[in-house]
Amino acid sequence: MNYSAITKGNIEKMVVKPNLDDYQTIISNFKWDNIYKELDGFDNGGLNIAYEAIDRHVKTSLKDKPALLWEGKHGESEKYTFHDLYKLTNRFANVLSKLGVQKGDRVFTYMDRTPEVYTCILGTLKAGCVVGPLFSAFGPDAMKDRLEDSAAKILVTTPKLAETVHEIINDLPAIEKIIIVNKEKTPYDFQAREISYEKLMEEASDEFETVKTDKEDYAIMHYTSGTTGKPKGAAHVHQAIMGHYATAKYVLDIHPDDIYWCTADPGWVTGTSYGIFGPWANGVTQVVYEGGFSAGGWYRVIEKYKVTVWYTAPTAIRMLMKAGEKVVRKHDLGSLRYMCSVGEPLNPEAVIWGEQAFGLPFHDNWWQTETGCIQIANYPVQDIKPGSMGRPFPGVTAAILDDNCENEMPPGQEGNLVLKQYWPSMFRTYWNKKELYDSRFKNGWYITGDRAKKDEDGYFWFVGRADDVINTAGHLVGPFEVESALIEHPAVAEAGVIGIPDKIAMEVVKAFVSLKDGYEASEDLKMDIKKFARQKLHALSCPKEIDFLPGLPKTRSGKIMRRLLKARELGLPEGDTSTLEE
Ligand code: ATP
Ligand code: MG
Repeated sequence: MNYSAITKGNIEKMVVKPNLDDYQTIISNFKWDNIYKELDGFDNGGLNIAYEAIDRHVKTSLKDKPALLWEGKHGESEKYTFHDLYKLTNRFANVLSKLGVQKGDRVFTYMDRTPEVYTCILGTLKAGCVVGPLFSAFGPDAMKDRLEDSAAKILVTTPKLAETVHEIINDLPAIEKIIIVNKEKTPYDFQAREISYEKLMEEASDEFETVKTDKEDYAIMHYTSGTTGKPKGAAHVHQAIMGHYATAKYVLDIHPDDIYWCTADPGWVTGTSYGIFGPWANGVTQVVYEGGFSAGGWYRVIEKYKVTVWYTAPTAIRMLMKAGEKVVRKHDLGSLRYMCSVGEPLNPEAVIWGEQAFGLPFHDNWWQTETGCIQIANYPVQDIKPGSMGRPFPGVTAAILDDNCENEMPPGQEGNLVLKQYWPSMFRTYWNKKELYDSRFKNGWYITGDRAKKDEDGYFWFVGRADDVINTAGHLVGPFEVESALIEHPAVAEAGVIGIPDKIAMEVVKAFVSLKDGYEASEDLKMDIKKFARQKLHALSCPKEIDFLPGLPKTRSGKIMRRLLKARELGLPEGDTSTLEE
């Protein structure tokens, strides 16, 4: 079968047979039990995420295969095989045992993307504890909120980030030990409760028997991105690995020989589900780049490591678009064979740009911190309808329900995006917020909080978050549709759309746009963008007002914070800004 012919834009590049080679057949035969059988598991029926990601490979020919190719922000590079990671994570599990940490205790990390963060996350899981990775750019308030809420016992951090911790440590009595990772060996004055990672690791044995956790034991908690309000701690259990493994295989299409790069930080769910667990459970080599974003820097990483499968986010793609195709041409990116995107709606313009710039489209997929793994996706063997999130993952039932979450909406009509209540990687609670958790379920469905449409072919189309949908003269407008139309304008790099109060229409659409390099803000340009929007959109969806901003407020995970645009516009309190990117 000629796979290349099926995938729009992927011609010549489909050099390997996709793992999901026939959507309907795989859907019909899909059983989570079969996925469980592809993992090793324990004799007692248990599962442990770290065991599946690392330990099991050490018994096979993958033992000496590179698992992690790390590049530091100063250009340093380190290479770790599965066996190296096995020994390091054993050591860290022993460290925790020695410190008296018990099964179920929370161990949090607060570090840059260095190999040590990967060791600590997996070692914590081996010890049967619950890991909570926190993003290194968090300030003291964000840290305090999360450490207080989770009552973490152990925090692992670095000398530089410890300065932030010192500001709040007196308010965190639950923390018993702070482990200081001093990779750069800078002189450091240890404070109360602090202890050296290097010393602990040196003293620990590299043999450890991974705790035989139950499928339902808590494994990891992630705080949500905070796009719509105060972040919630979504807690996941060990059998989430079934979801990570299966979706990495079938959606990200990971094959044994791939060099895979996920650009997300482990402080966000994408950075663990698909920056650690799913890929390593599939035995693939991963690249981790500690440095920040720059178009040239990222292309250099792809070129240097010969990345074949690349998983990134719309914000990054829009920034790459902004940097233009000239930078692309300076690099040999011929190794790339498959590209995916998650985190925000992927504008059709971005899918098409991918084809132009790389000869490959970006495959959008949808999921949330709460769902633990990809739920709706574009697959290699299917045509992409640019702007659509694709179709449900086998084993997942997604639907569009009416306002009361009782009846399904007919094709093409928007409503609440919901998922059938059970899947292995689904969150099991919002930490300390059981009522909020319970309120997200109705009639056997999990209510995602997003609004979407489903078309006749079963493709799902994102409309907006329930909170962001604009009601103008009785017509519901999803910000995504308007934003996507605006970024098709040659001058527009990014757009964020909100509803502002209006005496007659209840709300009208207002857009905030940032411009591409080389364009100047002016009244003429505003008029031109409005005119352009009128050609693309329903009259009521067209922005009545446009403001230019140098950049849009975003979460640290790269999502446009429309609630902040709105609060600022209306002079209302800004609410939780702990995840705001500065
Ligand atoms: P919070 O729940 O704290 O407001 P958040 O919802 O942004 O923050 P995440 O769990 O990181 O936190 O993000 C999940 C949300 O991101 C989804 O509910 C959806 O709104 C958006 N999203 C993710 N992927 C896509 C996609 N492919 N298309 C459209 N929206 C997406
Ligand atoms: Mg959310």
